[in-house]
Amino acid sequence: MNRPADRCPGVFATHAAADGHLARLRLPGGRIDPARLEALALAAETYGDGHLEFTGRANVQVRGIPAESVPDFADAMIAAGLAGSRTHDRVRNIVVSPLTGRLGGTPALWDAADRLHAALGEAAWSVDLSGRFWFGFDDGRGDVLARTPDVVAVWAGEHASDAVELVLAGRRSGRLVSLTDAPALMLDVARDFLARRTGAWRIGDLSDDEAADLHRGLAGLGRPGGAATGPDPVPGPRVGWFDQSDGRILLGAVTPFGRLSARQAQFAAAIGAPLIVTPDRELLITDLTEGVAETVVKVLAPMGFVFDAHSPWTRVGACTGSPGCAKSRADVRRLLADHVAGGGEFDGHEHWVGCERSCGAGPDAVVRVAGPGPVGLPGT
Ligand code: SF4
Repeated sequence: MNRPADRCPGVFATHAAADGHLARLRLPGGRIDPARLEALALAAETYGDGHLEFTGRANVQVRGIPAESVPDFADAMIAAGLAGSRTHDRVRNIVVSPLTGRLGGTPALWDAADRLHAALGEAAWSVDLSGRFWFGFDDGRGDVLARTPDVVAVWAGEHASDAVELVLAGRRSGRLVSLTDAPALMLDVARDFLARRTGAWRIGDLSDDEAADLHRGLAGLGRPGGAATGPDPVPGPRVGWFDQSDGRILLGAVTPFGRLSARQAQFAAAIGAPLIVTPDRELLITDLTEGVAETVVKVLAPMGFVFDAHSPWTRVGACTGSPGCAKSRADVRRLLADHVAGGGEFDGHEHWVGCERSCGAGPDAVVRVAGPGPVGLPGT
């Protein structure tokens, strides 16, 4: 089966949208250090529309780049260390349980994600992976597993701290393997997937027989057993003030639509703390002292960062809509912002979209399709 060209955007292969080119930057595990965020904010201001947008894979994108500025933007990202090689930039899709090692879980998952990232970039064959194919590391709370990565290593917990179970497109392998070996095994699965040359973009696109064949490759690995998944020790949004297990403070914030102005990003970078973008488009500011955390809230809250876990902005989001997306039937973001400002009600997590493609909807979101007038919205 032939498949069309992969149009998933990256730094070098941008997407020509109605409002200019869109470049997406992969942040393995969602981590971005302050200096890189500062460089990205400057590049967004210089070449893009002056904003950053978080994505549902814990990446970040910049819109509104004129075609003639795409090479300069890419050069700025290379200089900042935010681009992969030209060949491998888009395959670096790795999501990690964002709180792991700081509030529950284990820091060992970050090390494993780094090893996977390095090996992915060194493998010649991995350039054939689609930009949509992605890897995950879940610490047992289920926050990454629920999003159905192609290949996810689920930590077995304290009782077997060096063991993970590999889960392929939501299907458990029933084998526990060493966390040390997991990155190489995850790459083996991806390579096996490609070798079947089915033309599918993702493991979930395989037929039942093809998926069963892929699973057979895992049958003899490790030892029988499965990782236990339990309730997230941090239920609800990762928004507000959290005490890390090492006594330091972690602050979680959202902004409307997961969109940051360059100025907001520069202020977040100026804190000088490790930053993590989550698949729920939150920004985690980590490893703070109590005094610094208090100052951060005082400075950033008036700038539009939301630290209130009860704010509707922790539960609602929207696709790009008009005018950025030519397919959209409505200015979805304006409609949603008006609904929030008017104190409108929501049905749990909601994601508003301008057409049935439902871009960016999370796994537990109620999707509302807006038309020239809002359609399918509460009370309409
Ligand atoms: S859901 Fe439709 S309108 Fe919204 S960004 Fe995707 S293609 Fe565009």
